[in-house]
Order: sequence, then C-alpha cells, then structure tokens
Amino acid sequence: MIRIENISFAYRKGRKQVFRNFHADLNLGGIYGLLGKNGSGKSTLLQLMAGLITPSEGRILLDDKDMRNRSVTSLQKLFLVPEEFSMPAVSLDQYVRYMAPFYPRFSAETLKRALDCFELSEDLHLERLSMGQRKKAFVSFALAANTEWLLLDEPTNGLDIPGKSQFRKILVQEMNDERGVIISTHQVLDVEHLLDHVLVIDQGQMLLQKSVEEICEILSFVRTSEPEVLRRAIYQMPSLQGMSALLPNDDGRESSLDLELLFNALMEKREEVCRLFSAPNRSNQA
Ligand code: ADP
Repeated sequence: MIRIENISFAYRKGRKQVFRNFHADLNLGGIYGLLGKNGSGKSTLLQLMAGLITPSEGRILLDDKDMRNRSVTSLQKLFLVPEEFSMPAVSLDQYVRYMAPFYPRFSAETLKRALDCFELSEDLHLERLSMGQRKKAFVSFALAANTEWLLLDEPTNGLDIPGKSQFRKILVQEMNDERGVIISTHQVLDVEHLLDHVLVIDQGQMLLQKSVEEICEILSFVRTSEPEVLRRAIYQMPSLQGMSALLPNDDGRESSLDLELLFNALMEKREEVCRLFSAPNRSNQA
C-alpha cells in the first residue's frame, strides 16, 4: 500500500506549494488514472512517491516504509517511467544485464512478451531507436522489472497509434492483483477503458479519488440531444452524437465512464459534482 500522509511540497522554500496537506491511500490490484491540468503536480507526485524528491511536511509510506529513506527494499518494489528519460548507448541485452539485478522479480519472459507486443526485436541497440521506440523499450523493461508498483508518467506521449493500443494490451495482460499501476496522463482517451480508479488533483489538493465503479454508480454519462435530459445535466459539452452530458445517476442506470466529460465537469462544476459524492448516504469524500 502507498500512503501519502498529509504532504506539503514546494520546489523552493518560500515559493508556491505544489501540494498542501495532501493525503491519499493507494492499494495494490488496480490501475489508477492520475488526472490534472498541466502544472497541477502529477509528475511531482510521481517523483515524490518514488522518493526522488521529498515533502517538506508529511511523509510517503510504501508498506509502512518512508520513501525519503530510499531503502533498497522500497526501491525494489517500485518502478517509475518518467515522461522524459535518457537511456545509455548500449544494447538492450547489456542494459538488461546492468539493470535487471536491481529487481529481484525481473522476468525475461515478460520482457520478451512486451517487446513482441510492441513489435520490437530483442536484439536492439538503445541509441539507435526513435523516441517512440525508446519509450516502448523502456516500458517493456519497466513491466519486466515486475515491481509491485509501476508509475507511468504520460506513457502514451510519443507513441504512434498502434503503439497506444499495444501499450493498453500489454498492460492489461501483465496486470494482476499483486500489482498497482499509476498512470499520469492528459491523454484521457488512451487510458479511459483501462482504469479501475480515478484520481483528480487540482491546486495542490485531491479533488476526486474514486473507483470507476463508484463514479458510475453516482454519475450517469450520456450522449443525447433531448432537451429534457440536457435540462437535468450538471455539465454538458458538444460531441459527435449531439451532446455529452453528465447527470446524477438517480435511477441506477449503467453507463460507461467518459473521462473527459468527468474531468471537465470537475473543473467547471466542482461543487455540484463533489456534492453528489458526499451526499449523506455516501461513505467517503469525493
Ligand atoms: P504536471 O505533471 O501536472 O504538468 P508538474 O508536477 O510538472 O505538473 O509541475 C507542478 C508545478 O511545479 C508547476 O507549477 C511547475 O511549474 C512546477 N515545477 C515542476 N518541476 C519543477 C522544477 N524542477 N523546479 C521548479 N518548479 C517546478
């Protein structure tokens, strides 16, 4: 479990805090979508979780161990794929020989499956890859590291259209109840159908932390042009099939999560949306 315990963080003393008294508990066994506007702190949060930077107040615990200590046991449980990264000018084979020993559960079979899925050969040289291919190779290594937690910062940026569906396919294939994946992204369509949980951050606070199931119990996502339905909508935006509308799910109707609609509604109609989640018969805050 990752516990983010009331952290505050600013890049420089006296400068604007990216997080203020921020709290979240994340459990293994799910894919979390971490959403927020540009500059809201998604990458910062992933780096804090990885112990690359440390909060000025509060702490981040991975299985009760403070990440600021960057202990070997903690680091072996977590792999971060940053949005931008460099790789050494070596062959993949050499890279695996240097890096795999840091990850006791490293799986050569997973690496092969991921490279196959991305249509990359095992016999490649990291320096001779395009940006998208390097990302595919690094994500393949990250999956093969087989850590409990996998943190992916904008993983689909730079991937071509087949690459995005290959990414979804291999991630779902390698997912199990003993792993947790956190995907920070603004490319909501790339990950919408993968997610089990949605985290939305804004202005240093957690605006929404819910499972997709809970969200769809409370909210209804509809495409319609019927004025009567639109009149009841909390938020609506134009779509190819009329309007996409967000409504309270009063009649227990099933609908599929529309992440873009949810995100925009939270940005524009924050109080109305959050109120629905904190209605008296709901157990936790939005
Ligand atoms: P996001 O990933 O949501 O786009 P970031 O975590 O990159 O947001 O940035 C959060 C805030 O911290 C922004 O205001 C950004 O300008 C600032 N920031 C990010 N990295 C640095 C840095 N290395 N030094 C100073 N400020 C930074």
